[in-house]
Amino acid sequence: MKRFIGLILALVIAFSSVATVFAQAQHNPETCTDVPVLIVRGMDFGGLYTEVGTENQTPAIQADAKKIVVSVFKGLFGSAFKLSLDPTIDAAIEIVSNIFENIKMNPDGTSLHNTGAIEYPLAAQNYDVLVNGVDSEYGMVRAMIEEIGDHAYYFNYDWRLDPFVVADKINETIERMVAETGHDKINIACCSMGGVMTLAYLTEYGYERVNRVCFMSSTFCGGQVASDLLAGQLEIGDDTLYNIAYDGTKDIPFVGTLMKVLKFVGAFKLVSVLADKITDKYVDTVNDAVLYPVFGGTLSFWAFVQPEDREAAIDFILKGDPESNPELYEKIQALWDMHDNRNALLNEMLENGVQIAVVAHYDTPLIPVYEGASMNGDGVLETYEMSGYATVAPYGETLGDDYVAENPEYLSPDRVVDLSTAILPEYTYIIKGAPHVAGSYGTDYSDFFRWLMTYDGEDFYAGVNPDYPRFMLSDDAQTLTAFN
Ligand SMILES: [Zn+2]
Repeated sequence: MKRFIGLILALVIAFSSVATVFAQAQHNPETCTDVPVLIVRGMDFGGLYTEVGTENQTPAIQADAKKIVVSVFKGLFGSAFKLSLDPTIDAAIEIVSNIFENIKMNPDGTSLHNTGAIEYPLAAQNYDVLVNGVDSEYGMVRAMIEEIGDHAYYFNYDWRLDPFVVADKINETIERMVAETGHDKINIACCSMGGVMTLAYLTEYGYERVNRVCFMSSTFCGGQVASDLLAGQLEIGDDTLYNIAYDGTKDIPFVGTLMKVLKFVGAFKLVSVLADKITDKYVDTVNDAVLYPVFGGTLSFWAFVQPEDREAAIDFILKGDPESNPELYEKIQALWDMHDNRNALLNEMLENGVQIAVVAHYDTPLIPVYEGASMNGDGVLETYEMSGYATVAPYGETLGDDYVAENPEYLSPDRVVDLSTAILPEYTYIIKGAPHVAGSYGTDYSDFFRWLMTYDGEDFYAGVNPDYPRFMLSDDAQTLTAFN
């Protein structure tokens, strides 16, 4: 009997080693045509946790209802008693400050508390939440798992951190992908804030490992919303307020018309003027109590600041004195240098055979709390920066009948976006009506994304596939059609 068991064991061992060799032989990176894909996600605002990875892991952004109610009553009673708005503003600041406590930063741009993001170090197919993803990055990674199995990876990070710190982690992830798949080059899809993180990776580590990079609704050129926030350019405009109110209600009978009537009688103007008065009076208080401690050290936001807003941001957040916080300022300067070198880097990459695509959307109004909110955008970010600095008419307007594009091929059929001024017009897709990032599983857009990441042709200019021309239209279901 002992002998028999021994024989069986020997057979099992022999068989399993043959099976292992066979399984390994099945994947040969030399002949495998699947290029590994890394999806660098965007900012997951609610995706930070205190004591992440431990059994005490708790969502970092907490709204304690009891504390809020106490603050609200304190504020309102104080205001009524003193006939002044100050106590209400103080209460609002207290509420916001409490909600954001766990995501506050140290003055040098590191996390004040033990707060971080969930990481996904293994191939994406090992995580149920990714295998069953539906919208945006989750939908995209699910599509990639279906296309290339264990060659798909997903990168999540603490969105508050210095992009150069995040770049170190992107590099670790890419080196792990290379080791695990055996391929020496990978494709990157970077979404939204992932754009600026990927730019930091390319700046710091080069493009030796990169076969292709697709900037999806990304911040590779920063973003106006955080630029205006740090530059103190806060404004509730009557037009931007109306745009978002109308866009959100136009399909509801009567309500859309009501918005038009309210606009006609000046209701949005009234709100705007009142809000401006409040903003002007309290902007410094709000900065000292909330903006500086919560966002002043958020280096990812500093990486959004536009060259023309740099001085204003130093004035507003650093009170015009960078030497008051030299450690932070040095990191900010490195990020701005990164942007100053970006165009040269991208062109060098193209010359050396790296394939690039830029995908940007427009025709959805932006959040009406900053000066740049009158720009055209996708509801979250501005088309101007996402497209790599195309010339874009303000939301709801066109560039005009008299407008002459340097290259007529680069002007959108509705005369709203002119790619002639963009960094990489030849490689840029502009999609009217698509939401921020998009890529929902099972949609046309998802098919477009699958093609972007798995197409294996030599030429990768926008429109090389007739199914996906440079200018496209998207409906609410992310169905894509040619726009011509
Ligand atoms: Zn392979």
